[in-house]
Amino acid sequence: MLNLVLFGPPGAGKGTQSQFIVEKYGILQISTGDLLRAEVAQQTKLGLEAKVFMNAGNLVPDEVLIGMVANKIDAHKDSKGFIFDGFPRTEVQAKALDEMFKERNLQISVMIALEVDNEELTKRILERGKVSGRADDQNEDLVRQRVQEYETKTRPVANYYQAQNKFQSISGIGEMQEIFANICSILDKYI
Ligand code: ADP
Repeated sequence: MLNLVLFGPPGAGKGTQSQFIVEKYGILQISTGDLLRAEVAQQTKLGLEAKVFMNAGNLVPDEVLIGMVANKIDAHKDSKGFIFDGFPRTEVQAKALDEMFKERNLQISVMIALEVDNEELTKRILERGKVSGRADDQNEDLVRQRVQEYETKTRPVANYYQAQNKFQSISGIGEMQEIFANICSILDKYI
């Protein structure tokens, strides 16, 4: 099984690269951002709770995310593997994912981090906001708050995987196909 944590700040290109990976390797993408937005759109209890945090550019509480991801994994037990996109975003989530996987006899193969500098990120997200309709992509203060949240709470998650010798990092700037080729050269070692 190929289980990948695709890591990087908002706007790094995780969603785009996930689509390429899904097509080539036939594994399932679990995007916690997409899952949360679906809950918000359906106005579920979880969605209503999450919305307050998302609209402020803050992370949604760990328990909410951990439960959501566990459900998704269990709903796709026969998958050839998973790409985690936007998860884990805190050390608590990273530990919970390890626990969840251990209980199910699974293992994270590797974390791949996409490196993009903060100025480029802000530019990309505001551009995306013009077409995505995502309110959190259209307000510069909110975008900066999300990048800040990444710096303080999420970036340290890389160390967690580094300590397990599972951390790989590549540049997220350049042609999408070139970035994908670099991802493939890492992933091919794990299949
Ligand atoms: P981005 O494009 O900023 O990377 P996502 O689409 O992954 O954002 O997520 C949008 C929002 O959903 C985040 O700003 C955050 O509020 C919430 N969110 C998504 N994943 C997580 C997570 N793993 N932990 C906490 N909050 C999350």
